[in-house]
Parts: sequence; C-alpha cells; structure tokens
Amino acid sequence: MDESRIMMAHGGGGSLMNGLIRSLFFNSFDNPVLIRAADAAQLDLPGNRIAFTTDAFVVDPIFFPGGDIGKLAVCGTLNDLAVTGARPLYLSVSFILEEGLRISELKRVVQSMAKTAKDAGVPIVAGDTKVVPKGKGDKIFISTSGVGAVDDKSSDTSEGKSVEAGDCILINGTLGDHGIAVLLQRESFQLHASIQSDCANLYPLIHHLLGVVPETRFMRDATRGGLATVLCELVEKRNFGIELAEDQVPVNPAVVDACELLGMDPLYIANEGKVVIVVPGNEAENALKTLRQHPLGTNAAIVGRVTGENPGKVIMKTALGGKRWIDYLSGDQLPRIC
Ligand code: MG
Repeated sequence: MDESRIMMAHGGGGSLMNGLIRSLFFNSFDNPVLIRAADAAQLDLPGNRIAFTTDAFVVDPIFFPGGDIGKLAVCGTLNDLAVTGARPLYLSVSFILEEGLRISELKRVVQSMAKTAKDAGVPIVAGDTKVVPKGKGDKIFISTSGVGAVDDKSSDTSEGKSVEAGDCILINGTLGDHGIAVLLQRESFQLHASIQSDCANLYPLIHHLLGVVPETRFMRDATRGGLATVLCELVEKRNFGIELAEDQVPVNPAVVDACELLGMDPLYIANEGKVVIVVPGNEAENALKTLRQHPLGTNAAIVGRVTGENPGKVIMKTALGGKRWIDYLSGDQLPRIC
C-alpha cells in the first residue's frame, strides 16, 4: 500500500506541488482547457445567459456508502445548476488538504471526481490546491464552482414565481438516505448495510422531465434541511400553502428504522440525489410517469399539493389522519453532512 502523505511542500508552489498537480490532477481531470495551466480558463459559452454557482464540501467521513466527498462535490454543483433549468458546462475545484493526508486517499477522491465529471460530460477546467498544517484542517475540504448554459430564459425554475394553488409537488425518490448513510458511517453503527447515499447527478433526469413537462414551475434539490426546508422556503411570504401527505412520502424502510432509533425525522434529513418538483395539477400524472421512466426516478411520488388555504405554511396530513405543521428546523440537526 502507498504510505506517502501530503506534506506542507505539496502546497508550497515548488516541484512537489507541480508534480502533484501534473501527475494526479491533470491526469485525472484530463481536458485541453485545464492542461493549458493558465491563470484562468477561457471558455466558449453558448447563448448569452449563464448560471453560476459555488459550493464547499466538508463531509465527515470523506468516504461513505454510496459516495465520497469528491463525487458529492461534483454532483452537488451539477445539481445546483440543473435545478434552475440550466445545462451544466464547466466546473472548477479547490482543494484544502491537511498535512498528513494519505496520498492514496486523495487519489481515490480525485479519481471519483474525475469519473463523475466525465460521466456527466462536464470538464473540470480550473483548480487550486492549498495545504494547511496537521490539525488545522480535517483531511480534505473541497470547494467547487460551476457554470451552465440557460438555453431558455423563460424556463427559470429556481424561484417558483408561477406556483399557484392546484399545483402538485413531486419528489424523485426516497428521502434521507444520504444523511443517514453518512451519520451511520461516522458513528460506526452496525445497522448501515442497506443504506447508501443517494448522491447522483440529477441533470439527466431533469432534462428528461423538462422535455416532457416544460410547464414545470419549480425545482430545488433537497440537500441540507431536506424536503421540509425546501417547502418552507417555497411558501415563505407567498399567498399559498402546501399540504403534504405523509403516507405518500417515500422513505426507505431501513431509513425509517434508523430515524426512529436516532430520534430524527426523514423530512429534514439531507439528500444528494433528490429534487423537489412543482408542476401544474393537470401535469402531475404525466410528470410522475416521466420521472419513473428514468433510473433516478423509479421511486418518484406525488407527495403533496399547493393550496389556497394556510398561506405561508406547510401542513402535513399524517398517516393517522391528523395534521402537523412543518416548520424550519431550529438548530443544527446534522453537522458536516455535505
Ligand atoms: Mg441546491
């Protein structure tokens, strides 16, 4: 096994740093823009409107069932572009490495990023590397930025300005898998065998949906804070409310068990491959069928509807027939989940 580790000199601007960049980053992310090694990537952009986003990833542990910090960084940035209706084009990445990190671990992360970006057809065209002394970081932090093309300005799904009473709310699959997979891995619980992170690039699913249901009114990926937080954000200061149906919300049974054990609520747990979608009521069945045709939407469900009642509030009809007000979570449920 390769025992070599990151040293302060790997970030020092000298030959060690140069070697790391060329042998690992250039070889893995291999594309003509990056290997020019210019101070800035010069890019051709289609059309005249772009989407631009940035994210930082500090997940602990860096490897977990279903993914790792590198795959998470690439997917998270692609998804933030895709849910606004944009087509992801280019990514950049910055690494903050802790002195002492095994180079074999860094390689695993970088190769995972490279594979995820390649599968998405989105090159990583710019990057930076810094090293901090042992104890001043935690193995590896990654910041990614992304640029996408907005092909149709009228289809901005990021704010849901046209959402109205009668619309339906869909989710493309089970909730809570990512947060619970990471938490169980971190705490070394023995019950995590069947729970995998849902970390995935949602662009292909979203592209498929928008092709069939261009009337889609709102999309947001249900990351930190989960489905509940996305819906609270959507109704805030609006003249409509949302009614969720608890028995329609898909949750993997193993996640239900883990949540009961841990006293957590899957509605609030982070996902990394789930998108909340609002479509006009008369398109809901069509949208559901379309999502289910795609591998990332096989467990899609219509989970609620937009109502004229309770403006600004999210109300859940419980499986037992009661009603529960769903509000923002107070405090931090799960730190360092992404
Ligand atoms: Mg997002």
